[in-house]
Amino acid sequence: MKRLLIALVVSFALLPITIVSQVKTAPGVVLIKAGRLIDVRAGRVLENQGILVEGQRIKAVGPLAEVQRIAPATAQVIDLSRATVLPGLADCHTHVLLQGYNTSDEYDAQLLKESIPYRTIRATVAARTALMNGFTVMRDLETEGAMYADVDVKTAINRGVIPGPRMFVATRSFSATGMYPLSGYSWELKMPEGVQTVDGADEIRKAVREQVKFGADWIKFYADRRYFMKDGALHSWLNFTHEEMKAMVDEAHRLGKRVAAHAMGWEGIDASLKVGVDSIEHGYGLDEGLMDRMVRQGTYWCPTIYVGVYVAEGRAAAGAPIWLTMRDLEAKAFGTAVRKGVKIAYGTDAGGYAWTENQAKEFTYMVRYGMTPMQAIQSATVVAADLLERAGDFGGIEAGQLADIIAVNGDPLRDITELERVRFVMKGGEVYRNDK
Ligand SMILES: [Zn+2]
Repeated sequence: MKRLLIALVVSFALLPITIVSQVKTAPGVVLIKAGRLIDVRAGRVLENQGILVEGQRIKAVGPLAEVQRIAPATAQVIDLSRATVLPGLADCHTHVLLQGYNTSDEYDAQLLKESIPYRTIRATVAARTALMNGFTVMRDLETEGAMYADVDVKTAINRGVIPGPRMFVATRSFSATGMYPLSGYSWELKMPEGVQTVDGADEIRKAVREQVKFGADWIKFYADRRYFMKDGALHSWLNFTHEEMKAMVDEAHRLGKRVAAHAMGWEGIDASLKVGVDSIEHGYGLDEGLMDRMVRQGTYWCPTIYVGVYVAEGRAAAGAPIWLTMRDLEAKAFGTAVRKGVKIAYGTDAGGYAWTENQAKEFTYMVRYGMTPMQAIQSATVVAADLLERAGDFGGIEAGQLADIIAVNGDPLRDITELERVRFVMKGGEVYRNDK
């Protein structure tokens, strides 16, 4: 009994802290007064708008006076009249089960010294951080040795156990024998691996079925490795044969799942496009010919610029200067891809760098490399929703969409870094953050 009392006192003592850091209200009828509203689909800014939220979804959007007229008198009012309001952001390439690493030793340590339960606890913190930073949607592209723990994180979020974004998860990812860490250990040791190792078309079809059975929303695989420069272009070695990749993509599509390919060099991107993957991850070595094929095939590019910038210096110092070259190659490729109309979905590789770095830093690089601020915001909203085949549910602030709404104080179209200072977060009609 005494222990229970102490537990109660402790939990009440913690309560005010919880409320300060996470304002969470049950979904009801809410009227949001939006001083400026970014209409991402039309690419314009509207002033003095009203957003009527009923339960999890947006019921009406329009000039404030009109929306106020149809809002019930009992509606809770949220005053964002001095803020810029926009749809919740989507990050299409994350790893909640990784905590950042520069060297392979740091990567190995997470798999060797941290249990999957411990890594999952850390993943719940990463998910919460992402949501508080305004990311209401994440496509998490593999657990790096943590099996299906991403499915559990997603389930805990969906059931309201922990706060976090809407998750689309890829579970274990695929590579072939000998082509993904952990490597370099004595052959006498059975080491854990950062992926599900698969060889041969039949084994791959079975593995795709298994991942889907255990909850994969996406299939992810590593198309290439061993990046090198030749004749001014980035090249790579393939991890799979054409038949293996074809079997993987065909089986995933047959089960209604899309496929993301880690592809850095020309060979990796070329081989991935030949088998019809849905998104190219990183793509640092994209040239104009590959971009034209992506436009024709409707393939998305998830550039993950910031992680490349973040790790380049450290990896160069550790003896791999190719990372500096790849960083600079991508800066050029990005501007060309924007001009050519490649569908670019916002993706950061957060987890590849520490979750203490705000995922919104990617926006600054997208704008520096050739997008307008509006295009960068579209990549993290409407384009991401299309990639995830959920354009009817999120990506815009429109009647019928889920009420995933964020706000910043300044104007992100003038200063894109405003998105690193999100002050209001609503997901599915629930307020998770509302700083004064
Ligand atoms: Zn990644």
